[in-house]
Amino acid sequence: MTEILLKVDNLKKHFPITGGVFGKTVGHVKAVDGVSFHVKKGETLGIVGESGCGKSTTGRMLMRLIEASDGSITFEDKEISKLSISEMRRVRREMQMVFQDPFASLNPRHTVEKILEEPLKVHGIGSSAERRKRVHEMLEIVGLSSYHAKRYPHQFSGGQRQRIGIARALMTKPKLIIADEPVSALDVSIQSQVLNLMQDLQKEFGLTYIFIAHDLGVVRHISDRVGVMYLGKLVELSDSERLYNDPLHPYTQALLSAVPIPDPDFERETILLQGDIPSPSNPPSGCAFHTRCPHATEICKQKVPEFIEQSGHYVACHLYG
Ligand code: SF4
Repeated sequence: MTEILLKVDNLKKHFPITGGVFGKTVGHVKAVDGVSFHVKKGETLGIVGESGCGKSTTGRMLMRLIEASDGSITFEDKEISKLSISEMRRVRREMQMVFQDPFASLNPRHTVEKILEEPLKVHGIGSSAERRKRVHEMLEIVGLSSYHAKRYPHQFSGGQRQRIGIARALMTKPKLIIADEPVSALDVSIQSQVLNLMQDLQKEFGLTYIFIAHDLGVVRHISDRVGVMYLGKLVELSDSERLYNDPLHPYTQALLSAVPIPDPDFERETILLQGDIPSPSNPPSGCAFHTRCPHATEICKQKVPEFIEQSGHYVACHLYG
């Protein structure tokens, strides 16, 4: 049986909106509103959605960089959402994050050697000589060279900087990597190199990935399963192949229709969604997608659809009730 590495149950993040002279809470932005999923050991789970859907907030809550308002996060059978700061520090050795903008996430005043050594120092791993040795090994592993250790982040290209970001995440030999839009800031030609590197590293070190992206095209080749988020909720979750070949949710169908197909003999009609994403501080009643859905009926405005499973394919839509 495949082991489950991470399990998330009914995770929520409601940011308070304050107003008036006394700064009272007058409402909440429901950035993440009851998300549940699991990640199996060694797999890649893609999480996709438009900007503001809550995917990055979800990733940060898993790392406890943002505290959840409600719900549970179980990593290796341990509930981590209520751990103390020092207990969580130990867990973070096993869970690391790769960020979208490698330039912003690397300290510009530190050499690459210092940047890569830092996580080992924080976790008290190895002697100074052992740490340096690991830095040099890791540079080679991610396709850079030992001589890069003495350079500063600005001396690298965007793709090389993301390799440094990945190297830093791997320094503590984690089991889970949460990659938040790791290739979005890179040129398309460089994107595939970084994706290939991530896949090679996954095989070599048995890593598990949560790969967050706004583009279904990017996550397709790297993900075993894909979850689609809309306004703080998961609306569909399935095996990658099934999701791409037979998307059930109208929102997934619209997102997929915008992904270019490399086969010139195959045509797909682009589904244009009406209107903008509604504000998460005042989400529509019933199914939050009903204001933009081409199939919406009366029940969609009144009743929140349940996230139901049909042999491993989850969907939240009244068309499949
Ligand atoms: Fe569209 Fe209704 Fe399904 Fe929501 S529940 S996606 S509005 S058909």
